[in-house]
Amino acid sequence: MSAKTVPPPLILDRKFVVPLLCGPGPCAYWPSVTEALAKPVITPNCDEFYNVLDDIRAGLQYVFQTKSKLVLAMSGAGHSGMEAVISNLVAPGETLLVASRGMWDQRAIIIANRLGKYNGIKTEITSVPSNTTFSMEQLESELKRTRPEAMFITFGDSSTGTIQNIERLGDICHKYGALLLVDTVVSLIGVEFLMDEWGVDAVFSATQKAFSGPAGIAPVAFSALAEEKINNRKHEPSFYIDIKLLANQWNCYGDTRTYHHTLCPPMLWALRCCLQEIVKETLPVSWARHASSTAYFHQRLQEYSIELFVPKPEERLNTVTTVMLPEGYNHLEFHNYMREKHNILVLEGRGPTLGKAIRVGIMGVNATKEVADKVADALADSIQALRK
Ligand SMILES: *Cc1c(COP(=O)(O)O)cnc(C)c1O
Repeated sequence: MSAKTVPPPLILDRKFVVPLLCGPGPCAYWPSVTEALAKPVITPNCDEFYNVLDDIRAGLQYVFQTKSKLVLAMSGAGHSGMEAVISNLVAPGETLLVASRGMWDQRAIIIANRLGKYNGIKTEITSVPSNTTFSMEQLESELKRTRPEAMFITFGDSSTGTIQNIERLGDICHKYGALLLVDTVVSLIGVEFLMDEWGVDAVFSATQKAFSGPAGIAPVAFSALAEEKINNRKHEPSFYIDIKLLANQWNCYGDTRTYHHTLCPPMLWALRCCLQEIVKETLPVSWARHASSTAYFHQRLQEYSIELFVPKPEERLNTVTTVMLPEGYNHLEFHNYMREKHNILVLEGRGPTLGKAIRVGIMGVNATKEVADKVADALADSIQALRK
């Protein structure tokens, strides 16, 4: 009855000034999501639970624009989607071609290499300068050269601020017998994405970016081709992220209701609520809102003569902008000044933009002209104030 060795610690309340969240993620919640997080606990033996899963799957088919049945959400951050997509679809002895232009495809390489230690997944890498994107010609010739079982590519890249055109990439991959795996973590909802029409075979996203929900649940979807591979595969991915088993928990193929692990009720309610908000707004309106508020933000930066990391306007991402940090500025000092003086949270560059750029997210609930104005003015003031 006594706790002798480790005495109870003093855990005080903490005061927290909520900043305007304008980094590359996490983003602020929809007000309705804050309420949804407090909804009742639902357990995996009642109809209410499976009704919520059905609602989520219908909403995810809409946001991914897919009629596929194999659509569900992983219990984890965006990385759990990345790991699930790779390890369910690339088997021992097979090759994954990674189109690399930022830090997220580097993560895909790390994940594949770790599986490779035990399973023998081979990685092939093709890259472009990080402030540009791939041509279809380059990707096609790499597919021809490496003959991989799958290709991994990042659609919107929050480490570089670029958007990759993938409209014809599915067909090209299929021509060479490869599956197309796509990261839409920071782009879904903010940029037009059409899974079925573009021939994407596996896609993952996350809720804390343009979805404007909490981190911790990762939507994924698989095409018929991917599904066939999963159902006929000989290798066993990690138990927790085995899509075959999760499909039976999520009732992807009818009323299977098979317990796999305990899903987190607040996350389910929150994701369901994000999807309700998106359905209410509709995708085309959401894409247009992100495009216009980010274009407006870029225009405001131009007025201040602030440079962007990505030179070509058509390659700039509509959710996260990489703003050049002027010569001689310290990114941490800049970040701190923005937080302390303006109560705005932006983040330093990562991967290829480390020390070179500031990353600004005008996305989700913050994809408005009002927020764009606030951030542009604060950036200009910070550049002025920190001039040496
Ligand atoms: C943020 C981000 C991730 C990682 O998401 P987590 O939820 O932190 O795991 C992956 N890919 C892209 C493009 C991202 O922007």
